[in-house]
Amino acid sequence: MQETDLKSEYDVVICGGGLAGLSLAKHLHQVLPELSVAVIEKIPRPLPEAGFKVGESSVEGGSNYIGRVLGFHDYLKEKHFLKNGLRFFPGQSDRPLEERPEMGPPCLPLLPAYQIDRGVFENDVREMLIDEGIQLFEGYGLRDFELGSSGARHTVRIQKPDSEGTATVNCRWLVDATGRRFFIQSKLKLKNRWEHKLGAAWFRIEGRFDINDFVERGEWHSERDPDDIRYFSTNHLMGYGYWVWVIPLGSGHTSIGIVATEEYHPIKQRSNYALALKWLQEHEPVIADHLDGKVPLDFRCFKNCSYGSHQTFSSDRWACVGEAGVFLDPLYSYGLDFIAMSNNIAVEMITRDYKGDLTPADVDEFNNFYLTLTNNLLQLFNGSYHIFDKGHVMMAKLYWDTGFYWGFFAPLSFFKIFQKPGLISGTNYMKNTLALNLRMQQMFKDWARMPCSTQAPDFTRYPHLYSYLSRAHVELSRNKSQERALRDMEKNCRMLEDVVRVWFLRAVESTMPERVESLKARGRLNPYAVSLDPDRWEGDGLFDSEASSMGLIEKDIKVYCGEIKLSKWASLYHLFRLYLWGWTMKTVEAT
Ligand SMILES: Cc1cc2nc3c(=O)[nH]c(=O)nc-3n(C[C@H](O)[C@H](O)[C@H](O)COP(=O)(O)OP(=O)(O)OC[C@H]3O[C@@H](n4cnc5c(N)ncnc54)[C@H](O)[C@@H]3O)c2cc1C
Repeated sequence: MQETDLKSEYDVVICGGGLAGLSLAKHLHQVLPELSVAVIEKIPRPLPEAGFKVGESSVEGGSNYIGRVLGFHDYLKEKHFLKNGLRFFPGQSDRPLEERPEMGPPCLPLLPAYQIDRGVFENDVREMLIDEGIQLFEGYGLRDFELGSSGARHTVRIQKPDSEGTATVNCRWLVDATGRRFFIQSKLKLKNRWEHKLGAAWFRIEGRFDINDFVERGEWHSERDPDDIRYFSTNHLMGYGYWVWVIPLGSGHTSIGIVATEEYHPIKQRSNYALALKWLQEHEPVIADHLDGKVPLDFRCFKNCSYGSHQTFSSDRWACVGEAGVFLDPLYSYGLDFIAMSNNIAVEMITRDYKGDLTPADVDEFNNFYLTLTNNLLQLFNGSYHIFDKGHVMMAKLYWDTGFYWGFFAPLSFFKIFQKPGLISGTNYMKNTLALNLRMQQMFKDWARMPCSTQAPDFTRYPHLYSYLSRAHVELSRNKSQERALRDMEKNCRMLEDVVRVWFLRAVESTMPERVESLKARGRLNPYAVSLDPDRWEGDGLFDSEASSMGLIEKDIKVYCGEIKLSKWASLYHLFRLYLWGWTMKTVEAT
């Protein structure tokens, strides 16, 4: 039952009722229904379809949170779209679409992810939450807050709708979910403006804008996309310094956005629809040509999309969730994953506080964990935009980034490990996995700058079935204890070491082929010392490692690159050997 007016006291005030705020309210209601919670949201319903917000495409971690943990799966399936994975067309934008290299899934993935019309979603979820008894105040604007010290309650000043004046509300917990309003971060001056300078412009087009229709029906459709579901992917058309998204929405419309770094394509070149169209004509003419004569439903752009934070959680009982805390980059659709992670941490802190056992040391641990991960993941994007027209490097990067996501980042979410960061924070395999990621990201950046004649194949099945990647994906769907999940993450780290060794040798072969034989002859390569600077190899300890077979991953990557084909039975046998490798591998720390 919805209260008609604000009370003067709440246990928790959630500032902002967007994706993060609404899902946090639902999550708290599930875990601690006895808490009094108010969600303060300035925009009243009805919210427009399409044309409302970005954040339409999701991947496994975030989808698991809203679909399975919060229970919206059936609703999302009915009113929105099940997503056909991420699909990429890197480079060669002057050629017809069917002649560009393509990397994407051949079929719907096992684990669901969604394409979400945010206007439809937020209209419906607000209604559902109110029906459940959650107190949502629409049309109420947050003005200011004072933090209570030494256990005293916080005070929030709120503008009521229709000039009804202001209200002052006290609360034990203040959670900022105001997105780019940065209610807490800006007042406490906690934002960290890092060097990843990103600008985005986007609009929605009425009806279905299907890239499948850009190509005359033929093999391109039947062989690569037999189920005719390319439209349901998040399609990325990429070039030097930019990428363009095409996302289908359940309301029947299509979202299109251009993301680029300021260094290569300043946002002022796309600050209105006419300019964006002109820019597309120059860089992605296939999109521009098909937009001819269409009228956009909306248009928006942002400068400085990417930012970090010096602190997102406090033992003074406040938290910043979703975009009100940190946002890295929309490539790979991780926004909802960070909402899942920050919401889970907020729920865990509030629960421990409610039980009287939240300590400042716990909060430090949550902060360090969250900020360590965001800073590490930033390197997937920061300084990487020159890679996007190099198909051969993009395909390596996609293999690594996906293996890292499914083998390390997503399990943190699926198995709720970020509710207990102490289980993993001090471990060598967390440090090692993050260190491997930094090495690989640097290698991709360097590889893309070096001359070579390597070409990406016409079509890369990403992820191909019966592979290391599909194994990591399937493992997310299993019911595991946290102990078991941690053991598997330690094993994944060992497998990722081989992934590094194999891609390193391939990168050397592509850029310095004369050095490959001598490297192979040394036999033992230290994955924590790979780089494309031969002068650093000895000093960094590249040859200082335990022997590794690399055989299974090498085969896996050859299949991925289309260099060998395995029959169905050989593929199954390969997958069985990958599993066997995992089963028989001994863990050291995660027991
Ligand atoms: C270009 C771009 C593309 C993106 N694409 C994706 C994607 O594909 N997938 C993905 O997962 N993420 C994506 N993101 C990130 C995405 O925006 C977030 O995942 C998501 O929208 C953040 O939700 P939120 O609830 O934190 O913020 P919001 O959805 O912005 O919600 C904040 C809410 O606070 C309210 N509010 C603000 N100020 C006040 C106030 N003073 N008083 C009361 N209420 C207030 C607002 O009205 C709003 O409803 C993208 C981001 C950008 C910049």
